[in-house]
Amino acid sequence: MRYISTRGQAPALSFEEVVLTGMASDGGLYVPETVPQLTHDDLAEMAGLSYAEIAFRVMQPFVNGEIDDDTFRRLVTEAYATFSHDAVVPLNQLDANHFLLELFHGPTLAFKDVALQLLGRLLDHFLKKRGERAVIMGATSGDTGSAAIEGCRHCDNLDIFILHPYQRVSEVQRRQMTSVLADNVFNVAIEGNFDDAQAMVKASFADQSFLNGTRLVAVNSINWARIMAQIVYYVASAVALGAPHRKVSFCVPSANFGNVFAGYMAYRMGLPVERFVIATNANDILHRTLAANDFSKQELKATLAPSMDIVVSSNFERLLFEAYDRDGAAVAELLARFQAEPTALADAPLARLRERFASHSVDDATILEVIREAHHRTQEILDPHTATGYRAAERERGDASVPMITLATAHPAKFAEAVVKAGFPGVPLPPHMDDLLEREERYTVLPAELSAVQQFVVENRR
Ligand SMILES: *Cc1c(COP(=O)(O)O)cnc(C)c1O
Repeated sequence: MRYISTRGQAPALSFEEVVLTGMASDGGLYVPETVPQLTHDDLAEMAGLSYAEIAFRVMQPFVNGEIDDDTFRRLVTEAYATFSHDAVVPLNQLDANHFLLELFHGPTLAFKDVALQLLGRLLDHFLKKRGERAVIMGATSGDTGSAAIEGCRHCDNLDIFILHPYQRVSEVQRRQMTSVLADNVFNVAIEGNFDDAQAMVKASFADQSFLNGTRLVAVNSINWARIMAQIVYYVASAVALGAPHRKVSFCVPSANFGNVFAGYMAYRMGLPVERFVIATNANDILHRTLAANDFSKQELKATLAPSMDIVVSSNFERLLFEAYDRDGAAVAELLARFQAEPTALADAPLARLRERFASHSVDDATILEVIREAHHRTQEILDPHTATGYRAAERERGDASVPMITLATAHPAKFAEAVVKAGFPGVPLPPHMDDLLEREERYTVLPAELSAVQQFVVENRR
C-alpha cells in the first residue's frame, strides 16, 4: 500500500512517511493508492467484537505491515482505553430508526479525540524507531488544540506547541488545553485573533529553518492517519445495527470534511451505506456546492457551532479526486480556479457525488429550535454541532426504512453557550472533568510576532 497525492505530482509515500508528512509537496492531500476491501464475511465476523479489535482489523491494511501486528494492536488498545465509555462510541437510539453515534466520550469531549489519541501514538512510535524527535505546532480556536494536546501529552519524542488567541476561546476550551501540565506541552496565548495565530503556524511550516533540522509535524485533519482512524466508527456502528446484512445511512455535521470523507472511505471499502447526509452551519460551502453547484468562498460567519466555522473545506479535495476519477491534473486545475474566483464542478463528477451524498444547511436560529425540539421529543440535550446533524438527518432522510445514524460530534457541556441560549440551565461536565474549573493552568502570553513565537519554541523544545 502506497499513498498518492490528489494533485498527481508529488512522490508516492509509505504509511510511515505519510503519517509524518502533512500536505503533499504539490499542494495536494495524500490518499491510499488502492482501497482495501472488507468482504461480507469480514464484516459479519466483526459482530460482537470490541471497538479496539474492530479498529485493528479496519486499519491494519492501511498500515501495510509497517508496524507489527502486536505493536499496532497495543497502540490501538491504549488509544481507546482513554475513552470513558466501555463501548468507546456508543449508539443511542432516538426513535424507531434514528440513532446518535456518541463520539464525545474521549478526553476532550469531541470526536477529534478518536483520531488524535491514535495519531499521537503513531507519531511517537515512528519517531522512536527512527531515533528522531519532532515538534508539533498548531493554531486552534477550540477543539483541535485540546484534542492534539491530550493525544501527545504522553509522547516522549514529541513537543507540542498550541497557539490560541488570548482571551478569545471559551473558558472550558482554554482550560482543557492549559490544565495539561505535561513537560512536553506548551500553550501559547497570542495577543491577536485566530487568524494571527494561524498565520504564524503557516509561516513556521513554510520556513522551518528556525528549528535547525528538527522535524515539524502537523496534526490538522489533512493528516491521512486522522481519516483512517475515523473510518472505524462508521464500520463499528453499521455492524452494530446489522451490517453487512442491512444498509445504514449516516448524517455528519461537517466543516473540513475529514469526518464524512472517512465515512465515504468505509463505503468504498465495502460497507453497505445508502447515503451520507452532510450537515453544515451557516458556513455552507459544502451544501452550496452539492445543492446548487456553487463552489465558491464566502465570508466567514461566527456561529453557535464554532467548530464548523470554515470558509474552505480542505478535505473535500479528497472526494473531488474520486469524483474526477482520480485525475490529479483536473483536481489541481479546478482548485486553482476555485482559489481565484467562484467556480462550479463539471457535470459528471457532480452527478456522481449526488448519487451518494445529500446536504442541508442549518442557521443559528434553527440550531436553537432544534436543541429545544430534540429535547422535547427525546429528552436528549444536543450540542449545537450535533443539532445541525439532527435537523439535516430529518430533512434529507431518504428511505425511512434504512436506519439513520447521526454523528454526535461534541458533548453539550462543551458548548454551553448555545444550550443556555436555547433556554436550558446548562449541562454539567462529566464526572471525570467536574473539577476542570479548579485545575491549575499553565500558558504563556506572547505578542502576535513570528520571531517571539519561534524563539519560544526553540528555547522550550526538549
Ligand atoms: C471539527 C468538528 C466538526 C467538523 O468536522 P470536519 O471533520 O472538519 O468536517 C464538527 N463538530 C465538531 C464538534 C468538531 O469539533
